[in-house]
Amino acid sequence: MEKRSARRRPWWWRLLVWLLASSGISLLARRRGALSRSGVPAAIVTGTVTAGAGGWELGLSLIFFFISSSLLSRFRQQQKVHIAAEKSNKGSARDLLQVAANGGVATWCALRYGLRQRSVTSAVQAERASCDPWLAAFGGALATATADTWATELGVLTRRPPRLITSGRPVSPGISGAVSWPGTLAAAAGALAIGIVLQGLLTLARLLSGGASEPDRSRPLPLAIIAWFSGLAGSLIDSLLGATLQTIYRCPRCGQETEQRRHQGCGSLTQRVRGWPGVNNDVVNFLATLSGSLIAAALSRCSAPYRGRD
Ligand SMILES: [Zn+2]
Repeated sequence: MEKRSARRRPWWWRLLVWLLASSGISLLARRRGALSRSGVPAAIVTGTVTAGAGGWELGLSLIFFFISSSLLSRFRQQQKVHIAAEKSNKGSARDLLQVAANGGVATWCALRYGLRQRSVTSAVQAERASCDPWLAAFGGALATATADTWATELGVLTRRPPRLITSGRPVSPGISGAVSWPGTLAAAAGALAIGIVLQGLLTLARLLSGGASEPDRSRPLPLAIIAWFSGLAGSLIDSLLGATLQTIYRCPRCGQETEQRRHQGCGSLTQRVRGWPGVNNDVVNFLATLSGSLIAAALSRCSAPYRGRD
């Protein structure tokens, strides 16, 4: 039986390499306006822990999420700047709380998965570890974040007004809880894309480490399908929570619905029309990624339970 752990670099080496890589990517993102000043340390921690503990497969999946989201943010940016200024309480640069809300659950799952992987020594165990619910939970959380971001970035561009997911009432684009067919399709595409990337990288890593090339039979569903489903479900939960729990204000002067306490369009103080006080978009994103990860973990329950060691 081949010792898989023997080939691995010491944990501190991997952490150091990924600390440098995450810092470089985060500073580049800061320069290009994708991260705010407070978002930089949050992104560095997220990247270092995810890749350092979970492995490069998980780290590159996170980078795929980050780069694809940033590219979509820039797509037809002029049109979106206007919408964001009217509706959202934040700009396109992600701050600390946004990074934590979108990446916190995935980072925690990657850490738990990585800690379990450290006890893996045989190829049989490695095969079983690929069925780890923490790995699926990571995929579900990241797929939810990707689906939600892709849906937001592409959904706001739709010409027809989106509808509130709860009542079906037409609302202005960009408001939380608004859904449209283009946005939902973008969510499905984002979740599937992250699932395919993650499963592809895990398969590549298994081949590189000399593991079995056969697909994992103990898992009831392929990881890509689990990520797709849980990511789409998570983003719909995001919309549901956005339409119910999240605080939405209305500007008394121009009647616009917004997430801003003071309407940037005209400068007047807004009034709360629905939602719970204190529940903003970050809280909703955190709850949605948590839901996505739980759905994925439930879907990934294996026929042969993984216990860490034989
Ligand atoms: Zn106003």
